Amino acid sequence: MVTVSDTDGPIQIMGAGLSGLAAAIILAKAGREVHVHDIRNDSGARFDGDFQGIENWTSDEDFLDEMREWGIDPDEFKTTSFHQVDVIHPDDVITQAWSPTVAFRVIERGTANHTIDQGLKRQAVAAGANLHYKSRVKPEDCHIIAAGPKDTSALAYGEIFETSHPDHVAFHFNDKLAPGAYAYLIVIDGIGLICTCLWRKQQKSGRYLNETIAWYDKHYPV
Ligand SMILES: Cc1cc2nc3c(=O)[nH]c(=O)nc-3n(C[C@H](O)[C@H](O)[C@H](O)COP(=O)(O)OP(=O)(O)OC[C@H]3O[C@@H](n4cnc5c(N)ncnc54)[C@H](O)[C@@H]3O)c2cc1C
Repeated sequence: MVTVSDTDGPIQIMGAGLSGLAAAIILAKAGREVHVHDIRNDSGARFDGDFQGIENWTSDEDFLDEMREWGIDPDEFKTTSFHQVDVIHPDDVITQAWSPTVAFRVIERGTANHTIDQGLKRQAVAAGANLHYKSRVKPEDCHIIAAGPKDTSALAYGEIFETSHPDHVAFHFNDKLAPGAYAYLIVIDGIGLICTCLWRKQQKSGRYLNETIAWYDKHYPV
């Protein structure tokens, strides 16, 4: 891999996901010629429609303000903010953790207009970056490798459903539903997602998801 400081010429980035696009926005705004290559046909195609959470409780500064300082506009994609999240203990006790500042945000990954992927893509294009989809480049020809993880040690198994339940987030720590990991419920604008995160080596993943759904059926009227 060559380094960005080695050259005044065009910057080649492998991967038009969050990292590649963020780098492209910052470099293009700094006046560099930027080319971003992605093997897929669009940013976010790897995740289409998934909810993901951005935690906001571990630093004093709001993460969206941090993005603004980097030159990235978080108003370009949809975020849903939560001051309260339910934390569900192994004995089924539910703690309603509340923060005076935003504790957690939910964003959507994918190719729809309101996703974070498309929000960053629009900003990269507006800054002058050149995006090349279905483009395969060699890592040694790139200055920045942002191709995401090659493999994952954990997987999220989930079910999406329609609901009249108000927006809600619950994290669930219970080895009977997600051994050594966690399960969660997210409801945004009438769309619900119940997920159990399991280590890849975990057997009987379907059983854990069914039991997680049954748990929420019983304890939350979603
Ligand atoms: C199921 C799941 C749930 C997650 N939930 C959360 C969450 O709730 N909160 C959170 O903070 N994080 C979450 N993550 C992690 C989060 O998705 C990653 O941290 C984030 O996507 C990393 O961004 P990235 O740009 O490095 O990779 P990606 O967003 O994966 O983008 C990589 C891009 O590189 C492209 N690419 C791959 N190989 C090549 C190649 N050879 N050449 C060119 N392009 C290539 C891909 O097509 C893709 O567009 C989750 C991950 C998974 C898998």
